[in-house]
Parts: sequence; structure tokens; C-alpha cells
Amino acid sequence: MPEHRVTAQTRSLGVVGYPVRHSLSPQLQRILFELLGIDACYHAFEVPEEALEPAIRGAAALGFVGLNVTVPHKERAARLCDDLSAEAQALGVVNTLAFRNGSILGTTTDPIGFLRPLEAQGFELQRKAVAVIGAGGAARAVAYACATAGARVIRIVNRSLHRATALVDTLAPLFPGVLLEAYPMRYEDLDRLLEADLIVNATSVGMWPEHGKSVLPEHVHLPRGALAYDLVYNPVRTLFLRQAERDGAATQGGLDMLIYQALGSLAFWFGREIPEDPDLIREVRHQLEKELPE
Ligand code: NAP
Repeated sequence: MPEHRVTAQTRSLGVVGYPVRHSLSPQLQRILFELLGIDACYHAFEVPEEALEPAIRGAAALGFVGLNVTVPHKERAARLCDDLSAEAQALGVVNTLAFRNGSILGTTTDPIGFLRPLEAQGFELQRKAVAVIGAGGAARAVAYACATAGARVIRIVNRSLHRATALVDTLAPLFPGVLLEAYPMRYEDLDRLLEADLIVNATSVGMWPEHGKSVLPEHVHLPRGALAYDLVYNPVRTLFLRQAERDGAATQGGLDMLIYQALGSLAFWFGREIPEDPDLIREVRHQLEKELPE
């Protein structure tokens, strides 16, 4: 691979989070810059809460094209924006900032990142029933994405019921035509609650180094013919996905979502559509998998 030569023309980008050392975004964006011929550098910045505003305004003053924002700054960064996309406004969070003409623009590319792999699989969400396990930031983006794509029923199943209820309360007024329901994650009910066309693991359970765990207890089975989608991308083949295969469900891992949301950020920063052809996605996935632990 040719070495990237940094010059005075090279554009600056990065991610702010706390902690951020685990982030895959620098490797992912480097791969995308190389494949798309973008002359840019991307760094991870570990920024504590009290330094977030000066860090963002400083990056803007230095002429950065923009930033990604990750945990725990997504809400606070949204409040610093001069303008928010519809999705960022609805969810109250941003994962991407663009600095343009003296303004800070914010969006979240998680919903589109979630939907694109479903489209690529030919999975049609219109009128479908969806079960989302989890009620954190990722589950919120998933539920929003499914509602915008025309799902009929969205069941939020979470360990802490109050978070599931809060999610439903936020989204229900925006989507009066969608049946949004909140449930506590009680093992005796799970088979019934997960009776859906699409079942999403939006919890962090199963993530490396706890890759021996699954949010699904052994005795719970997913419906044959459903699609099981795990947002966890590390490892690529999680225990949740292996359980789904055992039950005769189709599967989708989290790595493609990560790639598509990064492409969404690039499009937002550079103000142009980035071609999302399947060969590009395959090549990015192939290179990114080498960055993950076995
Ligand atoms: P978060 O806001 O911290 O939410 C974590 C969720 O996991 C909560 O619903 C929490 O339940 C649940 N949970 C944690 N441990 C659990 C356990 N032992 N049993 C049952 N539920 C448990 O995190 P997030 O930002 O939503 O991220 C969730 C996952 O999605 C992470 O693994 C993240 O890496 C992944 N993600 C992937 C992508 C992608 O592009 N592929 C994008 C975003 C996020 P409680 O509410 O009860 O605590």
C-alpha cells in the first residue's frame, strides 16, 4: 500500500470521545481515504467532558473539516451545534460534526448505517415487526431507523424497563403510525417477545473480550426465517449470530453498519455522495477484519 504523504493540502479530521483508545475509526477512515483517494488525516482525541467545547471550537478554528463524536459526548456535542439534521434533532445526539462557513453542523449517521446493510441484503422493513434488545444510544438509532423505514411494530426489550419506556416515550409522538412497545427483559417471556421479522441485538453483550456471552439464554430460540442483526462487530461472528444460525434465522453482523455510518460521515464532511458499491464495502470489510482480534 503506498505511504500517504501529508502536505499543507492534507485535510484534518478526527474522533472525540472519552475513553477513545479502543476506537476503530482511525483505521476505518484511513482505509476509506486510501480506497477513495481522499487526502486527509484522522486522529483519535481523548477529551474529558470539561474540555469538549474548547476542543470542538479549537478544531473548527484550526480548519478541521469535521469530527466524529463518540461516547460520552454525543448529547453534549449536539447542544453545541448551530444546525442539526432531522435525525440528530429527533434523537438528541450527533456522531458527526462538520465545520462549514463558521457554523457547526451536526448529524448522526447511525440510523442510515443501520439501514444500508438491510437494503444490501434485500430485507424490506415496510410493515415488518421488529424486536430490539437494548435501549441505549444504539437501540435508539435502530428504533428510529426502523420507524422511518415503515416498520409496523417495534418492541424494545431491555434489562432496565425504565430505559425502554423512555425510548418509546421519545419516539412514539414522532411516529404515530408505528406501534412502539417497551418490555423488561424477562427470560420466561423472551421467545414470545422476539417473535418478529427482524431481531436486533443492540446491547454490548458478546463484545470482545466477553465474546463467550450472548444476550440470548441457551433455551431461547429465534424464529426460523427471521433476520438476526447484531450491532456488535468485534468479534465479527458473535455467539448471538451463531445461535441465530442454529435456529434457521438469517444473520447480519455489525461491521457493515460501522462501515456505512463512516461513509455517511464522509458524505456529510465533504458534502457529496460517496459511492457505496458492494466491491468497496467488501474490500473495506476485508481490510478492517485484519484490525480486529481473532
Ligand atoms: P449503551 O448506551 O451503553 O447501552 C448498552 C445497552 O446494553 C443497554 O440497553 C444495557 O441495558 C444493555 N446491556 C449491557 N449489559 C447487559 C447485560 N449484561 N445484559 C442485558 N443487557 C445489557 O451502549 P450503545 O451505545 O447503545 O451500544 C450498544 C452496542 O452497540 C455496543 O456494543 C456498541 O459497540 C454497538 N454499536 C455498534 C455500532 C455499529 O456501527 N456496528 C454502532 C453503535 C453501537 P441497561 O439499560 O439495562 O443497562
